[in-house]
Amino acid sequence: MLDYHLHLWEHGPRTLEVTLEQVAAYCEQAQAEGVVEIAITEHLHRFRQADAVLGGWWEAEPPGAVRDAMADFWYGEVGADLDRYVEVVLAAKDAGLPVVLGLEVDFYRGRMHDVAAILDGYPFDVLLGSVHWLGAWGFDGVGSDVVMAEWDARAVEDVWDAYADSIDELADSGVCDVLAHPDLCKVAGRRPAVPDEWHARMAEAAARGGMSAEVNSNGWRKPAAEAYPAPDLLARFHAAGVPVTTATDAHRLDRVGERRGDVARLLVDAGYQSVAGFRGRQRRAVPIAVAPTPTDGGPSGRVAV
Ligand SMILES: [Zn+2]
Ligand SMILES: [Zn+2]
Repeated sequence: MLDYHLHLWEHGPRTLEVTLEQVAAYCEQAQAEGVVEIAITEHLHRFRQADAVLGGWWEAEPPGAVRDAMADFWYGEVGADLDRYVEVVLAAKDAGLPVVLGLEVDFYRGRMHDVAAILDGYPFDVLLGSVHWLGAWGFDGVGSDVVMAEWDARAVEDVWDAYADSIDELADSGVCDVLAHPDLCKVAGRRPAVPDEWHARMAEAAARGGMSAEVNSNGWRKPAAEAYPAPDLLARFHAAGVPVTTATDAHRLDRVGERRGDVARLLVDAGYQSVAGFRGRQRRAVPIAVAPTPTDGGPSGRVAV
């Protein structure tokens, strides 16, 4: 397995230090879990360099509790130094540890050219693209009363429309390599009765933009209660020729590689025979190994990635 979506810090205010020992500990945990390579993919919005360009972006949205919550969230998260982060992860990679340099890039409507300018010149291996916010509404903050009141105020089809619009713009921007948690719009467990048209849009956007898609086990921990993407969407990615990565989205060391067997089964069921690894933003295929169990050795054997 690859774990291509990992964070060094939990959300919220904290000391945003990054050390070689920390990255080495992630690699050690990964190897103990049978994960052959990881990507460290911290959120772009945690870095001062992003705040300098993008800070206050929510001021373009209508005033109110939703916008205030976004401002609070932003200033509770920001503070790390992107240069230091890059330097430390590259040092770990240069030392031969099984890690590549990534970033989880937030989608900012109408501002992806500014995002590209921030990222320009850094030697990233892989860039994840994520839609977490619709306007100033951080719809995936399902523990927040303000966020959930907005879910109650909106028709679920409208939310999924807005999300798919953002995915279209993100994919067409060409800024990122991998669509992270592709159907995050289901995070709260609210779905249209028949999500086919939205799934079709997401698969088409990824294929059109030349993006890979991520199979992310974190959805099992949310009200959505399934991995991202849904099996129907994963099948559509496969049919559209969209490669996939595998990921936990862990924000803690002890969750690296979590549910990798379940993720591998989803991939095999959808018809995938390889996953995508990245170096210098160039994709390569990594085979999915199917290991026979000691007892039967048959096709129902343990699946490993
Ligand atoms: Zn995310
Ligand atoms: Zn993440």
